[in-house]
Amino acid sequence: MKVTDTIAAISTSAGNSGIGIVRVSGDEAVEIVDKIFQSNKKGKKLRNVKSHTVHYGYIVDGQTILDQVLVIVMKNPHSYTGEDTVEIDCHGGMLILQKVLELVIKNGAKAAAPGEFTKRAFLNGRLDLSQAEAVMDVINSSNDFALSSSMSQLKGGVSEKIKEIRSDIIYHIAFIESALDDPEHISLDGYDKEISHMLEKNTTKIKRLLDTFDNGRIMKEGIHTVILGKPNAGKSSLLNLMLGEERAIVTDIEGTTRDTLEENINFNGLSLKIIDTAGIRNTEDKVEQIGVNKAKEIANQADLIIYVVDGSRKIDENDLEILQLIKDKQFIVLLNKSDMDMVADFDDIKDLPKEDVIEFSAKQGMGMDKLEERIRDMFYSGRVTYNDQIYITNARHKEALENSYQSLLKVKESVEAMMPEDFYSIDLMDAYEQLGLIIGESVEDDLVEEIFSKFCMGK
Ligand code: GDP
Repeated sequence: MKVTDTIAAISTSAGNSGIGIVRVSGDEAVEIVDKIFQSNKKGKKLRNVKSHTVHYGYIVDGQTILDQVLVIVMKNPHSYTGEDTVEIDCHGGMLILQKVLELVIKNGAKAAAPGEFTKRAFLNGRLDLSQAEAVMDVINSSNDFALSSSMSQLKGGVSEKIKEIRSDIIYHIAFIESALDDPEHISLDGYDKEISHMLEKNTTKIKRLLDTFDNGRIMKEGIHTVILGKPNAGKSSLLNLMLGEERAIVTDIEGTTRDTLEENINFNGLSLKIIDTAGIRNTEDKVEQIGVNKAKEIANQADLIIYVVDGSRKIDENDLEILQLIKDKQFIVLLNKSDMDMVADFDDIKDLPKEDVIEFSAKQGMGMDKLEERIRDMFYSGRVTYNDQIYITNARHKEALENSYQSLLKVKESVEAMMPEDFYSIDLMDAYEQLGLIIGESVEDDLVEEIFSKFCMGK
């Protein structure tokens, strides 16, 4: 599909900064900017310059000089979008950028929708869909893992794996079709072995990719962590301690469910997403108030539960009940207030694995290193691999992989039940098309719209 409109947007972030870029892309990009650009060299016109060159001059609105700029010209197909692209490198004031953008629009460009540059890169075949999605992930990366995995996806890591599997499947679809068309020359004798081998190989490959999803999500989004404990155990103090770490980067984001606050904590490469479902910052008696059922529900959503016990008091029924609940999950018990006389009866919790119980003092910051180390052991040991391991971190990709896996299993069943070969084709085709969704082959327009609408302006 060829898109001919020329689009423009401010591609750098909103707010004043050193420089800011207005990006223009489309058939008329050069012509439009030529109308408002006055080169320092008399008579120089952008339409005559070579691709990938930089030009110094002014953006002018009639007689008025708006800004002193550098203009970069990139001719198609060698640009991000695959179209003629001009980037106007302005001073980074929002007012200047806005005025330059308005002028570009006045001269014939259209304001770009969020993600429209990347969408064009996709439609022009510069990127496939999984790579285009990776662009957004690269921009939003909040830790080293997220960055490295989205970079690998951008370079085509995921696409390559998907294409390998698809090419195996399409070979077999074609083979079956030709054999059925021309039985005299192409024999299907012994074919069940061959296709079984292909199915085994590729279901294993898909399974491996699917298995990376949980790790991938944890690495990318942070470990979904819930802090539980009775009132006054020290939950808020722990959270404040974590948030107050000098090395911590903290962002507040609204969670998906109402009333849920999620806080991302990122320190020393360790990334936690604290789910404050229980309202731990509230001083009320949350554990009792939310009840055991709710605690169970919360625990089920979490990758990690940190249970805070007030060590200066006796461990009671309530603690034991909760501990019982979380026993099968990944958990850490913090025996807090260890700076005071500890009266908690350790016999009650002695059957818990020793490494999961940490003596702690939120007041003095004692035990923080141990806590960090334990979390790292639980979630990161051997997990962060910056080698060729491909991670699936996108839920859309996961769903397509699962569907194609199911379709291949159906083919397996048909082979085992010795069904006629034309039965295989339908499920093989399903698997092939599902995988195609990941890289953007045969996707519906509205899915494309939906994916790109989540992009930021100017990308
Ligand atoms: P929450 O209700 O579980 O969130 O508990 P808070 O964090 O609000 O703490 C309750 C009380 O215990 C506060 O007065 C804290 O100052 C105190 N506290 C918390 N952690 C410690 C600790 O490690 N040692 C001591 N001595 N007091 C603590």
